[in-house]
Amino acid sequence: MRPFASTISLEEARRRLDAAVRPIERRERVALAAAAGRVAAAPVVATIDVPPFARSAMDGYAVIAADTVAASKETPARLRLVDRIFTAQVSTVTVGRGACAEIATGAPLPAGADAVVMVEETARGGDGAVDVLSVVHSGQNIGRRGGDIMAGDAVIGDGDVLTPSRVGAIAAVGAADVDVFARPRVAILSTGNEVVEPGQPLPPGHIYDVNRFTLGAIVEAHGGIADPRRATEDTVDALIAALDAAADADLIVFSGGSSVGDRDLVVDAIAARGEMIFHGIAVRPGKPTAFARVGAVPFFGMPGNPTSCLSNAYILLVPFLRALARLPPHAPRTLMIPLGRRIASAVNRHQFYTVTVRDGVAQPAFKGSGDITSLSRADGYIEIPADQNVIEQGTLVTVTMF
Ligand code: AMP
Ligand code: MG
Repeated sequence: MRPFASTISLEEARRRLDAAVRPIERRERVALAAAAGRVAAAPVVATIDVPPFARSAMDGYAVIAADTVAASKETPARLRLVDRIFTAQVSTVTVGRGACAEIATGAPLPAGADAVVMVEETARGGDGAVDVLSVVHSGQNIGRRGGDIMAGDAVIGDGDVLTPSRVGAIAAVGAADVDVFARPRVAILSTGNEVVEPGQPLPPGHIYDVNRFTLGAIVEAHGGIADPRRATEDTVDALIAALDAAADADLIVFSGGSSVGDRDLVVDAIAARGEMIFHGIAVRPGKPTAFARVGAVPFFGMPGNPTSCLSNAYILLVPFLRALARLPPHAPRTLMIPLGRRIASAVNRHQFYTVTVRDGVAQPAFKGSGDITSLSRADGYIEIPADQNVIEQGTLVTVTMF
């Protein structure tokens, strides 16, 4: 066994990770239908007004507002119907004094008219006459040209995350595609002679690969493209070959082999190909986590234990990946609720302790670092600082929800 040279605090690990992030520069053009969740790499500037023409905001009658100044139920203003305008029809009629045109919501306002009376405020008289039963003001019930967006306006700024409404704003100005930053490609690889692909028979002494899937799910959920590689055996040569093969990725994430056993050879592979930035964090679970640079590519060496691996993926990999992808920090939901059972934690490490939330109470759910159900049956986690050893039942704790 080779002991850790030293562990660093969680804060120091976060500081080194923040300092190492180089937000992605690569750009690509994507169809609007595929743009949701992406990060704009350039402003989107409107080349048209939206709406492109003055339009009716109501089903009703296009009128000259001045014709309705004295209109009421008792003294309706009687107008002559001169046209019927549906959407996508541009009327050739000019509405003059004493006249009106039936108009649908979204249809272009005819020349001459300056307001729309909603149909509920009218009555049809005989002889194609329309009685207006209330006053409308000039501009009322009209969407004016450019009232939403003016040609020349930037509807999207450089770096904006394309939420559904922003995708809508791009569609409104007629752009079919949009410049975005590339999603970081993340090479994910499990190490260990014992690791077997799900779906394959399980030889004696072997286990199924969990980490490649938990890491892949995290990566895809936070702006990256998961690029799973074949699991590799525990030899320095195999690990070096795997590192070399992953050199085209924007980020490399290995799991396993990062501890201090004789077969935990990630450290040796990094020594051969890169520069270690830290190895060992005073957290639990997840102490044997490494972070390095291999050429220009950042590298995470996650612990093999599935819970340690995934816990540190939430805590360290997610913020790093989101910064790489130019996404804003993740803001998980938190709850302040009482703890259902006393927890003793004499470890001198910052501890992430999983809990379930039942009836407004946080119940400890942590089993062991090797047990994926420590996480899969939990709803969130609480944090226990290194200098705190006990949390009594009933104490209000902050639960960060998964
Ligand atoms: P290691 O970090 O390689 O020493 O592995 C620690 C523990 O995690 C061992 O019990 C491994 O068998 C297990 N382990 C390592 N990699 C994986 C994986 N990809 N999926 C599930 N368990 C793993
Ligand atoms: Mg291993």
